[in-house]
Amino acid sequence: MRDRAALERECIQLDGRNYAAYKSLRGTFAFDDITLYVDHVQGDPFATPSKLRVRMAMEVAGIPSSLISNRVRRIAMQDFVARVIRDAIPPITSHSGSGKSGIIRIDAGAQEVIERAAVRIHDDWIEARIEVGLPARGRRIKGHEARGLLCETLPRVSCAGLRFASIDGLQAKAFVDCVENQEAIRRQLSEAGLVAFVGNGSLLPRESGASDRPLCTAGVVSFTAPPAFEVTFELPNPQPDGGQTIAGMGIRKGVTLIVGGGYHGKSTLLKALERGVYPHIPGDGREWVVSDCGLVKIRAEDGRRVAGTDIHAFIDALPAGADTHAFSTDDASGSTSQAASIIEAIEVGASGLLLDEDTCATNFMVRDARMQALVHHDFEPITPFVDHVAQLHALLGISSVLAMGGCGDYFEAADQVIMLRDYVPHDASAEAKQIARANPGERRHEIRHALEAPRPRVPVTKSSDASRGKRPLKIDVRGVDTLGYGRENIDLRGVAQLVDSSQTRAIGLAIHFASKQMMQPGKTLSEILDQLDALFDREGIETLDPYGTRGEHPGPLARPRRFEIDAAINRLRSLQIAH
Ligand code: ADP
Ligand code: MG
Repeated sequence: MRDRAALERECIQLDGRNYAAYKSLRGTFAFDDITLYVDHVQGDPFATPSKLRVRMAMEVAGIPSSLISNRVRRIAMQDFVARVIRDAIPPITSHSGSGKSGIIRIDAGAQEVIERAAVRIHDDWIEARIEVGLPARGRRIKGHEARGLLCETLPRVSCAGLRFASIDGLQAKAFVDCVENQEAIRRQLSEAGLVAFVGNGSLLPRESGASDRPLCTAGVVSFTAPPAFEVTFELPNPQPDGGQTIAGMGIRKGVTLIVGGGYHGKSTLLKALERGVYPHIPGDGREWVVSDCGLVKIRAEDGRRVAGTDIHAFIDALPAGADTHAFSTDDASGSTSQAASIIEAIEVGASGLLLDEDTCATNFMVRDARMQALVHHDFEPITPFVDHVAQLHALLGISSVLAMGGCGDYFEAADQVIMLRDYVPHDASAEAKQIARANPGERRHEIRHALEAPRPRVPVTKSSDASRGKRPLKIDVRGVDTLGYGRENIDLRGVAQLVDSSQTRAIGLAIHFASKQMMQPGKTLSEILDQLDALFDREGIETLDPYGTRGEHPGPLARPRRFEIDAAINRLRSLQIAH
């Protein structure tokens, strides 16, 4: 193993040489209290930065064992350390050099806390996985800058997060406690008969459509549960104010409507529930919005691919005579896409569906009395969601939460109606039922086929090949919602609960991994996802790294839920389902 002095010397000697000579830095360097691993050296200054790890022994790091005493706390602490390191990175100056010269970055999270590979806390050490742009002028090595970057800046920045003495211990504890509290609520939801919880005092609106940070203006209305819907949870850790319980609104299993006039906050509440499947950082405003981890947002997504999905309970007898027991199309309509997304989510274990009228196909959601009179049932392939929504819960145990300002035909089916007025929620359940009884309307139920549990589908192994040309594996992440996979681009814009591009990368690698190691004749999608989840639980998300040998910097990776992996597989244009 080389030491710090050797690294300094080597950097100086490399000054002025061709960029490729940087490759000689690969290897391990022992500093006083850290070890630096240079795992991968970029080929040129414009390529993806080099991958390095900085490891510190636990005796030196001194992280209190109470902060990592269980899985949830350890993941939260890892997340916290990554954020501290990111915040310690100095801004890059324009004269750092060509391409990515001088860049230091770590894949820390945003508003959500998601299990990720950026920092790993082992029993004996803690390690940060960092990317560094090795400095160049044109394609010539800037050796003196490299020395400063690798021997001074990088250790300083890393130690700011790795060494517990240098971070704000109270803040770290508050962060870890807060995440654990959220997970504790999540574990209690089902037993309390709930699919989601919105704590009193939550701040739901976001800064803008382009920013996920909390809206902080004078007019923001903080959340207060209607008395009829109020529930209280015990917390494992006291809140900052000392209280060890939290009160808020429970959203019950069954059918829940969120109603209210336009612009009164329906979609904002529904979005918070979507994101509530992940813990949030303290100060986000949604750290007490906790959803069951099986809630899946469903939206219309015309143009998407569908492969062999049984949507016949929703859509039957299409004009061209297409069989909807195993429906495939390269260009789904709004309604067929929505039906397929629902069936796919249930197939792999969703506990509930989240729907917002703003992003649903109207003809999928409802067919009113007048339209029933004009267009005969025999000529309408769609059984609207309103006719299945109660059965969905009664027969299959799947709850629905719908944001709905425009259609009262859901009142009969609703178990709970939340009315928003000026962003304040009220219990409108009894009133809605009363209105439904007083105005029964002419509308008829039109169920053609009862809902059944979806048939588990088996993907054809070769149909999810990630190769392109001579490359056996080609995965490009272009933002959160576009995944280049082999020869195609998977469009994930309709997959609302995917929140981090490192999850997107993990999804690409997970599909590849599954197609190489897990897909085999007879194995269902749901079984494959079970196996992936078990693998991530056992070995961490970094196990997906296809290039490095185990333990090397795995690149940016954050753990996706099974539903988002499933959504990507289902949107692969090459996917085929065995019959
Ligand atoms: P709806 O779906 O009912 O039409 P939205 O949820 O889209 O309404 O909200 C409309 C606007 O109100 C958005 O700009 C949103 O940021 C803002 N808003 C939502 N909730 C609150 C709140 N609690 N306090 C202040 N503004 C809010
Ligand atoms: Mg809306």
